[in-house]
Amino acid sequence: MAVDVRPVVSGPTTVLYPLRNRLVEVRRVTRLTPRMVRVTLGGEEMAGFQDGQAGSPDDHVKLCFPAPGADLPVLPVVRPDDLGEQDPNGPLPILRDYTVRAWRPERLEIDVDMVLHGHGIATTWAREARPGKVIGVLGPRGSVHYTGDYPWYLLGADETGLPALARRLAELPAGVPTFVFVQVAGPAEEQELTSAADVSLTWLHHGPAPAGAGSPLEAAVRALTLPPGEGLVWFAGEATMLRPIRRYLRRELGLPKERVDVDGYWRRGVIELDHQEAVGED
Ligand SMILES: Cc1cc2nc3c(=O)[nH]c(=O)nc-3n(C[C@H](O)[C@H](O)[C@H](O)COP(=O)(O)OP(=O)(O)OC[C@H]3O[C@@H](n4cnc5c(N)ncnc54)[C@H](O)[C@@H]3O)c2cc1C
Repeated sequence: MAVDVRPVVSGPTTVLYPLRNRLVEVRRVTRLTPRMVRVTLGGEEMAGFQDGQAGSPDDHVKLCFPAPGADLPVLPVVRPDDLGEQDPNGPLPILRDYTVRAWRPERLEIDVDMVLHGHGIATTWAREARPGKVIGVLGPRGSVHYTGDYPWYLLGADETGLPALARRLAELPAGVPTFVFVQVAGPAEEQELTSAADVSLTWLHHGPAPAGAGSPLEAAVRALTLPPGEGLVWFAGEATMLRPIRRYLRRELGLPKERVDVDGYWRRGVIELDHQEAVGED
């Protein structure tokens, strides 16, 4: 049962779920592109995940990883609505955020699409993931629903935001004009995206530059002339890259914050970014 429903004035609605840990197994590992792997996680403990509801495209969990060399993760202390106090003398849980790319209640399993980047606990785990490996899943804390009748959408992401973007695209109403910019390393990272919307999709390549550096994304967004009407804007990816895009949308175009959702999913040089603070306010 969902514990709360919070309508936000002129903005999205958030449905909260009781927070709990689940220990699950890797069921399948599918290589999507050279830099992206789909890991299917499942097990009996997935019963009741998101109260069995479909959720929304932004839904994300904290994956709880075993420490290097360990078989099982140290799980965080949770209360129904938040994280609890961890034993300061014990080992700490290792947590990273990942989008729920798909949730199949009938099979008690989820897919997470994980970028294989340079180094990090999560990416190392993803590179070595095999059926039978155990991992913790915490959350999601809630689902954010944009229920407005938007006349257009502007969506953008790097590789980390691509799973949520793909899910959002698949759920858009038929025929609605939708401008999409996705920045990936190169052509081999482009994925098949499906949507009933009227999609104008541009793939941008950062090439040999590190992900999130020297972004062609901002230039592409600035070159776009948005249609009239109160559309919805959603971006996710490297936080430093997104900050000027958010400023442009909010300050130069004057779009209201209820219709501009720009979320920093990681930041160059930062381990385990707190994404609530990532892109900052306007
Ligand atoms: C709400 C939310 C949803 C997310 N969904 C996804 C998802 O579906 N798929 C996904 O792959 N990621 C997703 N992310 C991003 C993911 O949580 C981060 O990339 C995370 O830092 C990876 O952990 P790590 O242990 O591999 O690296 P960390 O230990 O956190 O960082 C180690 C180093 O790697 C760098 N780094 C981290 N991520 C990347 C990257 N992608 N490319 C290049 N360098 C990087 C850091 O800057 C740091 O220098 C999401 C993040 C949020 C907040």
